[in-house]
Amino acid sequence: MNTCTLFINGDRLSGQADAFSVINPATEQPFAQGQYASVEQLDQAVAAARQAFTSWRQVPDAERTALLHKIADAIEANADELARIIVQEQGKPLFLAQVEVGGAVAWTRYNADLEIPVEVIEDSEHKRVEGHRKPLGVVASITPWNWPLMIAIWHIIPALRTGNTVVCKPSGLTPLNTLRLVELINEALPAGVVNLVTGEREIGEAISRHAAIDKVIFTGSTPTGQNIMSNAAGNLKRLTLELGGNDAAIVLPGTDIDAVAEGIFQSAFLNMGQTCAALKRLYVHDSLHDALCDKLAALSEAQVLDNGLNEGVTFGPVQNARQLGVVSELVEDARAQGARILCGGQALERDGYFYPPTIVTDVSNGIRLVDEEQFGPALPVIRYQDLDEAIAMANDCGYGLGGSVWGPDLEQANQVARQLECGTVWINGHAEVLPHVPFGGCKLSGMGVEFGIDGLLEYTQLQIINCNR
Ligand code: NAD
Repeated sequence: MNTCTLFINGDRLSGQADAFSVINPATEQPFAQGQYASVEQLDQAVAAARQAFTSWRQVPDAERTALLHKIADAIEANADELARIIVQEQGKPLFLAQVEVGGAVAWTRYNADLEIPVEVIEDSEHKRVEGHRKPLGVVASITPWNWPLMIAIWHIIPALRTGNTVVCKPSGLTPLNTLRLVELINEALPAGVVNLVTGEREIGEAISRHAAIDKVIFTGSTPTGQNIMSNAAGNLKRLTLELGGNDAAIVLPGTDIDAVAEGIFQSAFLNMGQTCAALKRLYVHDSLHDALCDKLAALSEAQVLDNGLNEGVTFGPVQNARQLGVVSELVEDARAQGARILCGGQALERDGYFYPPTIVTDVSNGIRLVDEEQFGPALPVIRYQDLDEAIAMANDCGYGLGGSVWGPDLEQANQVARQLECGTVWINGHAEVLPHVPFGGCKLSGMGVEFGIDGLLEYTQLQIINCNR
């Protein structure tokens, strides 16, 4: 049996609070055992990070870049092990876990090479004013269970690139890949620069309140993000919050259904639908609605559901029993309100949290499956007649993470895109995140961005040097 430990100041340590098991969602059997960190152990981790900050912040840029590439090399060298850990605790098929590890490498290398700019604001005869970017200090990373390794990398690497030190707290549902990552990072970096604690709400709240943590980068649900924001007020922590989403997609009249069906399917069911910016509500013009639904149902039925370590599997289980319950409940609610379930529609009767890809139609705004974030393999398809009405329904939502427009007329698609209330709009695509393109939500989907230079600078404090000549 694997053991989930903490990692503080270069050493693995056992936790001291409650014991917990990591469950393999494909078998419902424990994959690892561990103990949560106590609040005193969190203090130890923060103290180690503070101590390490005094020297890490002084490391020259070129050296930090080289060290981050060394971390990317280590991830690459251990890619197979990391991918298999991800499958066993998260549930996704092996090919997708390999994509996750590949993404982790790509993001690490991209951030390693980013230049931290010095901005010249005025350069006149009497004065030179420059904007410098300084590290914040100790950054805490709190991650969810859906893309655990990739999201840990999204948090940790830009923090390190800009000279901060880190205390990370993975989800207790999927901690082992991040623990292995932190071990690999510690082989490359001085002790204390990156530390890991385990725990859930209690330790998360202790992190948010901690007076010696300067920033929290959080990816997870909106209620947790709101809780972090209120707890973080004491020392005015900097926050980047990447929260829930309920992304709408609008399929315009005249769209070639054969050309887009696969892309729509993949972006709705990416990672069994457990992706923040997955396509979660599909608005289809009446003229195309039935044909597209048929195609999506056929693609759903072609999926091979099983343990992600088995050959040929394209679709794994939902990550945990609670999330399976949410998806089942939302589909049952829609069914009770007269929705048509074109395929799937109930959990498989076998071990593991398997729920087949499910296409639900004859629904509209006002039904829970459309209004709430399902975060799982059930896609509501909503018929529309009038484009303005579709845009209004897409925007009638508290979230604002992503959205998409599908159609051949790019001018029209761009006009629709600009009317959607969300952080990213894709045209003829969805859920595509890239290391050089800023990503973040509006409304209840969060604040701040990750990725690109804008994302990097969120780990820094602007210092103005105003020099009178
Ligand atoms: P969650 O909010 O339940 O948990 C996320 C993390 O927060 C876990 O590590 C958890 O232990 C910790 N936590 C729990 N209570 C806490 C508290 N009070 N204070 C501090 N930390 C606490 O989310 P989840 O169920 O793990 O993830 C699914 C959600 O994440 C979905 O809503 C999804 O849309 C969202 N998500 C968003 C993005 C994005 O980039 N916007 C990406 C992935 C997932």
